[in-house]
Amino acid sequence: MSTHRAVLIPGDGIGPEVTSAVQRVLQAAGAPLEWEEHQAGVKALENGDDVLPEETVEAIRRLGVALKGPCTTPVGEGFTSVNVQLRKRLNLYAAVRPVRSLDGVQTRFENVDLVIIRENTEGLYSGVENQVTDDVVMSMKVATETACTRIARWAFRYATRRDRKKITVFHKANIMKMTDGLFLRCARQIHKAEYPNIEYDEVIIDAGCMKLVQNPGQFDVLLLENLYGDVVSDLCAGLVGGLGVVPGANIGEEQAVFEAVHGSAPDIAGNGVANPLALLMSAVMLLNYLAETRGDDVCRDVAGRIRIAYDRALADGAKTGDLGGDLGTDAFADAIIERLDQPS
Ligand code: ATP
Ligand code: MG
Repeated sequence: MSTHRAVLIPGDGIGPEVTSAVQRVLQAAGAPLEWEEHQAGVKALENGDDVLPEETVEAIRRLGVALKGPCTTPVGEGFTSVNVQLRKRLNLYAAVRPVRSLDGVQTRFENVDLVIIRENTEGLYSGVENQVTDDVVMSMKVATETACTRIARWAFRYATRRDRKKITVFHKANIMKMTDGLFLRCARQIHKAEYPNIEYDEVIIDAGCMKLVQNPGQFDVLLLENLYGDVVSDLCAGLVGGLGVVPGANIGEEQAVFEAVHGSAPDIAGNGVANPLALLMSAVMLLNYLAETRGDDVCRDVAGRIRIAYDRALADGAKTGDLGGDLGTDAFADAIIERLDQPS
């Protein structure tokens, strides 16, 4: 059996704790992965490097996949966010965040099953900000036909492959006529010309947020530009139990970086209480990505077994504090490991 080499970035705050818990589960499940560890974030700075060291970027280019813990970017010291830099330098233009209700995690809604697809390279994250006068500062929202078309095509292809029925674009094209207008035009165009099989809808984002919290079941795949995708991801995380249970992938043409939606959670770092599930779910996405792009069925099988094990653990009431349980990070990982390959 062949193994896949992959980059592992433990990151900052709760990063190292959740990363090592996830590594243990992957190993116990027999995931055919071999890690090459690299640094980013404050940890890299402390080692005298840049927040995003060249060799970390190079390693991801070379190996094609990475599992990344949350990285902190020092505020207001002239550093560009690690995450934004990484997405730009590797052109990881599609962020994918599946959000689904979990048995055993009590929330307002049952049967939430959404996928958020976020454009990851432009919009207000272009980083173009200016001091215009003493009184005026400005941030530039950038949209290109290339990136808008690319993400729309990616979303429709994803929906088709995953047997999803409908894509809804959240926008504010009534106000931002040019930028959001372009985003909409490109999505419409791809829908009409290439994917008429998928239902397509457009909703103004403020109304969309209201609809999401009233009845999330009416949505399937959401397609959003960068900032809207960021905000709506956390909103949707709240629908299913919070940031501890939402994984993410940042995908480009040749590389993909898998990471939880949550940040470094400095408030609970070092206490051994963080929920490792979001990162574990991200690792499951990594395995499925390897299965799809490299045709490795072992990866698909391991991913499926891990998913069954954590679903069982939650249904049995094994939970970390953020979900109302009393297990620490490692005890929760153990509860998952115990349930790997348990007869049903
Ligand atoms: P960053 O600046 O790195 O994004 P942040 O201050 O935005 O960090 P998040 O990490 O996004 O914080 O977390 C927001 C809240 O959710 C915090 O109270 C944190 O403790 C909680 N939280 C985030 N991730 C987890 C997790 N994996 N397990 C438990 N609680 C979490
Ligand atoms: Mg945050």
